[in-house]
Amino acid sequence: MTDVLAAFEAAKGFMPLDEGLALYAAAREAAAGLGLPLLEVGTYCGRSTLLLADAAASAGTVAVTVDHHRGSEEQQPGWEYHDSSLVDPATGRTDTLPEFRRTLFAAGLEEYVVAIVGRSPQVAKLWRQPLGLVFIDGGHTDEHAGADYEGWAPLVAVGGLLVIHDVFPDPADGGQAPYRIHQRALASGVFTEVSALRSLRVLRRAAGDLTV
Ligand code: SAH
Ligand code: MG
Repeated sequence: MTDVLAAFEAAKGFMPLDEGLALYAAAREAAAGLGLPLLEVGTYCGRSTLLLADAAASAGTVAVTVDHHRGSEEQQPGWEYHDSSLVDPATGRTDTLPEFRRTLFAAGLEEYVVAIVGRSPQVAKLWRQPLGLVFIDGGHTDEHAGADYEGWAPLVAVGGLLVIHDVFPDPADGGQAPYRIHQRALASGVFTEVSALRSLRVLRRAAGDLTV
């Protein structure tokens, strides 16, 4: 655990340590309880992926992480979260895949991660396996967060966890799209909140049909 947390803190990314610890606890519980894969939307440079990978490894399963690796709106040139060191000189476009692979390699967790390069809704359409945990930390527009919820929440196994990052009930603290999918999940009747730490929310799926 010390090692994975050191690797986490050394990695580029947007997950603070306290929320990371809450995600890690949820991931360990889900992996140990169900033994099913854990899936993340929004790999970026792999900071949060490490936590899912370590939790999956200790339960004999894997972490799946999905990203087109071109960055979200707010990571494009001229925007608040742009990192010019992540631009591929050959294309002039953001490409977080090489840094993600370095993060995973440095942590020694490559064999526990299946990385999918693609758009979340397209990948979700191809996916059939139930998941022990779905962590939504991708695009922050209503279009993207909504599609992540609709694509992946139905794939959370009964007893599994849905974790959403960047949930800000007060618009003064941040964008509302993740908050809106959090509200949709609570209103669905099948997800119940287990814990909340700052902007990280953990919900558990009960039996019953999920209509999205
Ligand atoms: N989980 C990361 C941060 C993710 S940032 C960490 O802890 O540091 C959000 C990521 O979502 C970006 O890398 C962006 O490329 C990706 N993303 C945004 N919209 C997406 C979509 N529709 N499909 C796939 N990836 C998407
Ligand atoms: Mg986030």
